[in-house]
Amino acid sequence: MTMLLELEGVTKRFGGLTALDGVALDVRAGEVRGLIGPNGSGKSTLFHVASGVHRADGGRIVFAGEPILGRSSDAIARLGLARTFQDIQLFYDMTVLENAMVGCHRLSRAGALAAMLRPPWVAAEERMIRERAREALAFVGLVDLAAERARSIPYGHQRLLEIARALAAEPRLMLLDEPAAGMNPTETRALMHHIARLVDRGVTVFLVEHNMKMVMDICQRITVLNYGKVIASGTPAEVQADAGVVEAYLGGVAAG
Ligand code: ADP
Ligand code: MG
Repeated sequence: MTMLLELEGVTKRFGGLTALDGVALDVRAGEVRGLIGPNGSGKSTLFHVASGVHRADGGRIVFAGEPILGRSSDAIARLGLARTFQDIQLFYDMTVLENAMVGCHRLSRAGALAAMLRPPWVAAEERMIRERAREALAFVGLVDLAAERARSIPYGHQRLLEIARALAAEPRLMLLDEPAAGMNPTETRALMHHIARLVDRGVTVFLVEHNMKMVMDICQRITVLNYGKVIASGTPAEVQADAGVVEAYLGGVAAG
């Protein structure tokens, strides 16, 4: 069993607030792992420290066998970690295709100077990036919208575009932060189908989601955070039966 992402004693503070408090977890290659917990429990912060957006204050984070705490988000992306954001982050005035191409551009060899001078290998790389971006758009069913401005496509499609952009980088691990937020039931079903297909193609998925049916249906294992601490980890059935989890989270979700 290969561990793709391992966290040990990971702590992140914002001033006096401890957003992550000694978090330990491991994501196995090939699984769909869920991360759930009340609002403010540290789920997005965990994705930020794993992807290098924020630097953890302590602990150990290993991705694909490499210690990554302190590395830049670009360096971590090059190791094969891609992500989406809870608040969609697209270039709204660029086209759908251009947004997907951004996913591979950050991995490309061409720096600003090469992009300006355009030696032949830059043009070849650009063609390759365009192809990969189109393939990623096709994967989520957006290729017909490639020429549209990102701002002009429906919200659910913008969420899928973020996934396509992440996929265009050909990652080993994809972190999805509330991908179904704002989606209608039909869009959510399509999203679940795409996530299953990601796994078929060898991408491991680590998912934050409030849609409990979705989490319980597609995740092999679920980790539960509360006030920055892991309070449970296990199969959907184990987590649903955990009294601490029901009290901290599931009871509230059911009631609300
Ligand atoms: P979740 O994604 O589980 O809703 P977050 O990880 O966004 O939770 O936030 C965890 C805690 O950290 C919250 O109390 C939040 O207010 C705080 N927090 C998150 N980001 C910052 C930041 N950049 N500066 C200060 N506090 C933050
Ligand atoms: Mg969040």
